[in-house]
Amino acid sequence: MLLRHTPKEIKERSALTVNPAKTCQPVGAMYAALGVHKCLPHSHGSQGCCAYHRSALTRHYKEPVMAGTSSFTEGASVFGGQANLLEAINNIFTIYNPDVIAVHTTCLSETIGDDLTQITNKAKEEGKVPDGKYVIKANTPSYVGSHVTGFANMVKGIVDAFPVNTGHKTNTINIIPGYVEPSDMSEIKRIASEMGIKTIVFPDTSNVLNGPQTGKYDMYPSGGTKIPDLIKAGDSKATIALGPIASGPAAKALDTKCKVPCEILKLPIGIKATDEFVDRLRILGGVSVSEEIKTERGQAVDVITDMQQYFAGKKAALIGDPDQMVSLAGFLTDIGMKVRHVVTGTSGKKFEKRIREAAGEDVNVKEGGDYFYFHQLIKNEKVDLILGNSYSKYISRDEDIPLIRFGFPIYDRVGHQYNPCVGYRGAMRLLENILNALLDRQDRDALEEKFELVM
Ligand code: SF4
Repeated sequence: MLLRHTPKEIKERSALTVNPAKTCQPVGAMYAALGVHKCLPHSHGSQGCCAYHRSALTRHYKEPVMAGTSSFTEGASVFGGQANLLEAINNIFTIYNPDVIAVHTTCLSETIGDDLTQITNKAKEEGKVPDGKYVIKANTPSYVGSHVTGFANMVKGIVDAFPVNTGHKTNTINIIPGYVEPSDMSEIKRIASEMGIKTIVFPDTSNVLNGPQTGKYDMYPSGGTKIPDLIKAGDSKATIALGPIASGPAAKALDTKCKVPCEILKLPIGIKATDEFVDRLRILGGVSVSEEIKTERGQAVDVITDMQQYFAGKKAALIGDPDQMVSLAGFLTDIGMKVRHVVTGTSGKKFEKRIREAAGEDVNVKEGGDYFYFHQLIKNEKVDLILGNSYSKYISRDEDIPLIRFGFPIYDRVGHQYNPCVGYRGAMRLLENILNALLDRQDRDALEEKFELVM
């Protein structure tokens, strides 16, 4: 009963967050940077911030995450961090030889007012950036936004730095996959390739944060979008951005910069959202949907049909990132469950409207909310299932409600790196997890005479 002091009575709170449902912007910026091949993220602030950003990713992926830091001291905190960043850029290219350094700010450097554009330009003028190497950047103050906005800002930083419109359009479609797992990025690429469509997917953390054990440490794994591809993204005929919050800003920036028209879709979690993604691929690519993809869809729908009696009417509470929550709420509603509470730690005015469109008007929704409020909602109306990240386990234990780990971060399980939740295969995996949780609970609570072999 770790959270036994959470009261049931909900009072209006505006100035206090209790157990935030988000992490800070640089965590997302660092994750996005790892999706560029041979890129070393760099945290412009104190060592403590960088240690936290790296450990958040390392604990989630169970992989070492490398990043540099400007290592602010008291002096840098007062007089600005320009000297530290210039020295860091010089050292990193000399010692670690990345192709790209992706610099993001922290609360401290933002509060001082360090100007990344001015500092990185100075680094180039002083010859600290070797030919053919790049320094990209994103402003990621953590007193606003969350890891999702940090991710969005760094993906926009990638767009600001690389794509070029040469005037020769190609038949390629850019896909910005959103703040999803490496396994999801692989699955998005597989679906497009299965349909015979040439794509440039960026950022792409597959084979960076879910690579195989080879017995040999490689500071820059084989994955990540390569720089020539990022440059060519400016000549693609269209961009599909998955998730308006995480991918929308970069897609719009690419449209403005290189005249690549963009379509912003939901994350393809669940049947309907995946249908929309596959259909846009079909239309933009001028292809037919392959038999393999049709079979996968049919299998997912078959599971829902066969087991719908176990899903029907079951109440769910969801907590996580906004793009994920919208698609997940829609999917659970489509399979007959009742989505009762949805909370995201990321602020956004349209969140409530999008959730109500996905799950109906009769649902408790909160943007910029926290775990304390989420727990209070559950205390006021019990649910059968919680879907959220590892921090949800305290509420799950206190309220004796099954938890399906979903989203970021997941510190206490593996599998999310390797098994997707997007696409029809991802929908099958989610269905399996949901069904297992519901049937395990039914078995646990069944009277002896009602204990069933076949369910
Ligand atoms: S000080 Fe700001 S940037 Fe650093 S870890 Fe804390 S929230 Fe993140």
